[in-house]
Amino acid sequence: MASERRATPRSAGARGTTILAHTPKTNVPAPPPIKKLLQPRASQQQQQQKQQQQQQPHPRRMGGAASRSSRRTVATPAAAAAAVDAAPAASADATAPVLPFRVGHGFDLHRLAEGYKLIIGGVEIPHTKGCEAHSDGDVLLHTVTDALLGALALPDIGQLFPDTDPEWRGASSDTFLLEAVRLMRARGYAVGNLDATIIAQRPKLSPHKDSIRANLCRLLGADASAVNVKAKTHERVDSIGEERSIACHAVVLLVRAAGA
Ligand SMILES: [Zn+2]
Repeated sequence: MASERRATPRSAGARGTTILAHTPKTNVPAPPPIKKLLQPRASQQQQQQKQQQQQQPHPRRMGGAASRSSRRTVATPAAAAAAVDAAPAASADATAPVLPFRVGHGFDLHRLAEGYKLIIGGVEIPHTKGCEAHSDGDVLLHTVTDALLGALALPDIGQLFPDTDPEWRGASSDTFLLEAVRLMRARGYAVGNLDATIIAQRPKLSPHKDSIRANLCRLLGADASAVNVKAKTHERVDSIGEERSIACHAVVLLVRAAGA
């Protein structure tokens, strides 16, 4: 079911985040040598902690009964956060290098069907069809959420917010992206820049791109200069070109926040 909310586009927020990528070039400290970045920083005590962790069942490992019960524990953003926070993420691994940058990729596709609202980047776009989805079907926000989670080596959006869970029926996709942003900040990263491409034959998205971009900046807490949203058609071929679906790709660069 499509969400009944959000009848009007949102305006841009003014909440900017100071991040390394926006610092003028002259102020950027020289990066440490690559060799140093890749060296493990673990002390003996940290290595002992890691060994203890390895002896315990991994809460995020998918595929078995344990994983199924783990999925059921993430029914709310708070619960999802607890499940993810309790798990040793790659960046929190005592022996893993703390990377100054992390890159993430996101992709999503939804069927278009009559009877649904078309919501892209939190903006409702007038059209005869909308995205068929369990949540509000916001293809752009789902893609960006997965790009952030991917950059952090965390479980994907479908694992954190299963579409079998009634909790997320008609849910605003803001919830998913804001949770990914929270997890990103908790790990000491900020958005360096993001580049997204929405692929839709119709409707024409160019009149809405500014509103979409502004809302995305607000949700990410990022400056407009760091967030790009492109739109293109699919040359009338395949399901996208035949107006039966809509897709989106995004890549994001995360940078270690100053002082993190
Ligand atoms: Zn989706």
